[in-house]
Amino acid sequence: MIDLNKEVQYVKNVGPNRVKLLNKLNIFTLKDLITYFPRNHEDRSVAKNIADCEDGETVLIKAKAMSKIAEIRTRRVTIYRLIVSDNSSSCVITWFNQRYLKDKFKIGETYTFYGKITTKGGSFEMSSPVYEEKGIDKNTGRIVPIYPLTARLSQNMLRKIIEAGIDEVYGNLEEDIPDYILKKYNLVNINDAYKNIHFPKTNNDFIQAKKRLVFEELLALQLALFRLKEGQDETQEGIKFNSKINMNDVIKTLPFTLTNAQLRVLKEINEDMEKSIPMNRLLQGDVGSGKTVISMISAYKAVKSGYQVAIMAPTAILADQHLKNFEKILGQFDIKCELLVSSVTKKNKEKIIERLANGEIDILIGTHALLEDNVIFKNLGLVVTDEQHRFGVKQRAKIVAKGNNPDVIVMSATPIPRTLALILYGDLDISIIDELPPNRKKIETYAVNKDFEDRINVFTKKLIDEGRQAYIVCPLVEDSDDDLSLKSVTALAEKYKTEVFSDYRVEYLHGKMKAKEKDDIMKRFKNGEIDILISTTVIEVGVDVPNASLMIIENAERFGLAQLHQLRGRVGRGEYKSYCILKNEGHNKVSKERMKVMCQTNDGFIISEKDLELRGSGDFFGTAQHGVPELKIANLFEDIPTLKLVQQIASNIMKIDPHLSQENNLRLKDLINDKFTSRIEI
Ligand code: ADP
Ligand code: MG
Repeated sequence: MIDLNKEVQYVKNVGPNRVKLLNKLNIFTLKDLITYFPRNHEDRSVAKNIADCEDGETVLIKAKAMSKIAEIRTRRVTIYRLIVSDNSSSCVITWFNQRYLKDKFKIGETYTFYGKITTKGGSFEMSSPVYEEKGIDKNTGRIVPIYPLTARLSQNMLRKIIEAGIDEVYGNLEEDIPDYILKKYNLVNINDAYKNIHFPKTNNDFIQAKKRLVFEELLALQLALFRLKEGQDETQEGIKFNSKINMNDVIKTLPFTLTNAQLRVLKEINEDMEKSIPMNRLLQGDVGSGKTVISMISAYKAVKSGYQVAIMAPTAILADQHLKNFEKILGQFDIKCELLVSSVTKKNKEKIIERLANGEIDILIGTHALLEDNVIFKNLGLVVTDEQHRFGVKQRAKIVAKGNNPDVIVMSATPIPRTLALILYGDLDISIIDELPPNRKKIETYAVNKDFEDRINVFTKKLIDEGRQAYIVCPLVEDSDDDLSLKSVTALAEKYKTEVFSDYRVEYLHGKMKAKEKDDIMKRFKNGEIDILISTTVIEVGVDVPNASLMIIENAERFGLAQLHQLRGRVGRGEYKSYCILKNEGHNKVSKERMKVMCQTNDGFIISEKDLELRGSGDFFGTAQHGVPELKIANLFEDIPTLKLVQQIASNIMKIDPHLSQENNLRLKDLINDKFTSRIEI
C-alpha cells in the first residue's frame, strides 16, 4: 500500500526549492499533491490547420520551423520571432525577453504551439505560446490541467510534479467507497478518479472523475454529521412533556391568527416535546416571520408540564422585549417570567438566583448573564437561544448543561436553503417558517450612488417631519481594532449631527460602547426620543421599533446579502410604509447584481440562495464560523443535486447501520475519520 502521508519532497521532480513553493500552496504531503485539483482544463489535444483559425481563437497548431529564430531588440524589450508553417498556411510566432529560446528551434523540424492567434490582414500571428517538440505530449497534444499557482512556480513545472505524483499512486490507491455504492450510482473507481481529475483523456473521463470525487466528499461530510447527531440522541434520556397540556389554550388568546407555517412548526415541536428523546431543533424563519411567539407557546407547554424555561437573547434590549411579550400573554396563565441581564443590581440578582433555584421563577429570559455558574435552575426543561448565530456552540452547550437533557430550540433569522441548513446544522432537526404573517408590506428598496446624497437627505427629513424615525448603518467590523473605520462612524455621526441633520435628534451607537450605554441609546430610540440612529451592525438583531420606517445603509457593497436583508428587517415592523436605501459605491458587476437582488425581493430564502451563488461556497463558509470543514472539490451551489442524493443515501445507511460497523460499510468509517472528524467542531 502507498503512504499518502509521505512528504512531498520525496516525489519525483521535487527538490528543496520546489518544496518551499509547494508548501506555499499548502501542499506538504503526497496526498496534498494529488488532491491539489486543477482550476480548469484546456483541450490542447487536436491541432488545427493554421488557415482555419479564427481571429482571437486559442488553438493548437502543429507546424514546421521555416527560419531560425530572429532576435529584434527595441529599447524596452527583445522580441524573438519565428516563422512556422503547416500545409495550409504560415504563422509568425513571437516571444518577449525569452533569451533561452534563441537556439531552441531547428529549421525543418515540427513543433506544436498552443496560444492565442490573431489574423491581421490575412497573416496569422501567435504571441507567447506554449510549445513542444514533436513526439512530446506533456503540455500540448492532450487535455491539460491548469492549476492555481504561486509566484516562481510555473504551470508546466507544477503539472510535471503532479503528474509524477499521480504516476506514483495510480493503481495503488485503496478504494474507500463500498462496492455496492459504486455500482449502484455508476461511479468510477478511486484510481481512475484521481488520474482523470488531473489528466483525463476525454472530457467524459473528467466528468466521471469529478462526479465521483464530489460524491465522495459530500457523502463523507454528510455521514460525519449524521453520526454526530446519532451520537447525541442515543445516549440520552430526555424529558417527556405532558401530552395533556394543549398549546391551543395559549394560541386561542393571541391577538392574531397564526400562519399555517407557524402552526406546522408548532406541531413539529409539540411532537418532539412529547418524546423521551431530547429535542434539538433549529427554528429558521425570515425576520418578522414570528419566531418569538413559537418559543412562547413552547415555553407554555414546558412550564405547565412542571419545568422551567431559559430564553437566551444576544442583547439586553432584545431580552427585555421578549420579557414584555411573554408577560403579556403568559401572565394570564399564572406563569412567572423574570429578566436576568448584566445590568441587574447585585441585590436583585441574588434574589432572582434564589427564586430560580427554588422554582418560583418559571421562565428566565436574559443574555449571556444566564451562563454564569451561580445561575442554577430547579428543573430546567426547555432552552431557547434566539438569533443563534451570535452564540457559539460552546455557549449553547453550557446553558443546556444547566438542565438534565432539556429540549433545545435554536432560533435563527438567517435563512439558508434547506439542503445547506442540513450541512451547517447537521446536529439539529430543522423547522422552517416559510411564510410571513399576512398584511406585511414590502419594504421598498433602492440602490443609489453618491449623486443621490442630497435627495436622500431631503427624503429623510420629510419622513421624520411626518413623525417617523430612521436608521443609518455604517460598515464597521465589530470587535476589530480598526480605528480608521471606527473614526469613520464617529466622523459621519458628527457630520450628520452638526451639519446635515442639525435640526434633528441624532445619536450614534457602536460595538465598542459599554453595554449599558448601548442599551440606553436603544431604549431612547425605541421611546421615540431620537430621530436618527447612526449605528454599526449592532442593531442587526431583532429589536422592534415599529415607528422606524427608513433604513439607510452606507457602503452597502461592503455587506453580505444576508446581512443587508437582516438590517432591512429592522424597518417595516409597524403600520407605516417603509424604505431601505442602499448607498452603493461598488462598481463591479457582482456588486450591482447584488444590489439588484435586494431591490427585487424581500424573500430571505431567495436572497440567501443568490448570495451563495454570487459569492461562491468557499467564501460563504469562510465568513460563517459554522465549523464546517473546507470542501476541496464540491461546490455547495453547483452540486446541490449531488448533495441531495448523498443526503438520501447517507440517511439510508445510518438507518440500517448507524455505527458503520457492517462489513461493507467499514470503509466509510475510515473515509469519515480521514476526511473530517478532526476538523468538525461541535
Ligand atoms: P422574528 O421571527 O423576526 O423574531 P417576531 O417573532 O419578532 O419575528 O414577530 C414579528 C412581529 O409579528 C411581532 O410583533 C409579532 O407579534 C407579530 N406576529 C407574529 N406572528 C404573527 C401572525 N401570525 N400574525 C400577525 N402578527 C404576527
Ligand atoms: Mg426575533
